[in-house]
Amino acid sequence: MKTIIANWKSNPNSVKDAVILAKSTEKAALKYPQAEVVVAPPFLYLTEAKKELKYAKLGAQDSFWNEGGAYTGEVNLAQLKTAGVSFVIIGHSERRRYLGESDEVINRKVSASLRYGLQVVLCVGNQERSEDPMRVISSQLAQDLKGLAPGDKVENLTVAYEPIWAIGTGDAESPDGAANVAARIKEQLTRYWKIGSPRVLYGGSVDDKNIAKFLEKEEIDGVLVGGASLKAAEFGRMIKETNSKS
Ligand code: PEP
Repeated sequence: MKTIIANWKSNPNSVKDAVILAKSTEKAALKYPQAEVVVAPPFLYLTEAKKELKYAKLGAQDSFWNEGGAYTGEVNLAQLKTAGVSFVIIGHSERRRYLGESDEVINRKVSASLRYGLQVVLCVGNQERSEDPMRVISSQLAQDLKGLAPGDKVENLTVAYEPIWAIGTGDAESPDGAANVAARIKEQLTRYWKIGSPRVLYGGSVDDKNIAKFLEKEEIDGVLVGGASLKAAEFGRMIKETNSKS
């Protein structure tokens, strides 16, 4: 089964539009059941989105490392679970860049979320197209997954390779390049974290025109989609494609 995750980022700006988008995504998820579809709206819309999502799964765009207490502004793990969240995206490059989220913080979030039983999608990726992605990614994996062992439910971890230069630019990584990096990430996940069947997604300007080329690659287990996930008809076509490549 291949996975397609909708990262709505900080969109849309009304509950009404969030519900409309959740409904249309659910409709496609129901129609194409071979695809694993995950919708990650802003925290504010989780509860309303959950009412619409029966077949598609609910994701959050971040998590926190504990179950409550004096942490102003944070949404904790117990709250996410209560809202029906089963997936959390952690370490997105926009959070690393604009919120100054460090690898140490990401490590705490990944560890706590896995131990809490959530599916974790850890985002990693290099800034520049000209550099070897694995120089950055190996270091991110080492720091973000520090201390994790097989007993920590590491099998619930998925890594998303998201080159920063490709996010929101319309200039996607080549499918061959993405497959090569995915294979190298998998090698590390198996060697250092003993994950038997590691999963790696690609994200960065995936749309309805190029999605098939990524999903055709055996090394790529699915896609993380930003901008195109906000366009109901286009995202429906992408779910259909994910279904056919699953
Ligand atoms: C993302 O933000 O994770 C992403 C992949 O965005 P986009 O699809 O818009 O490049």
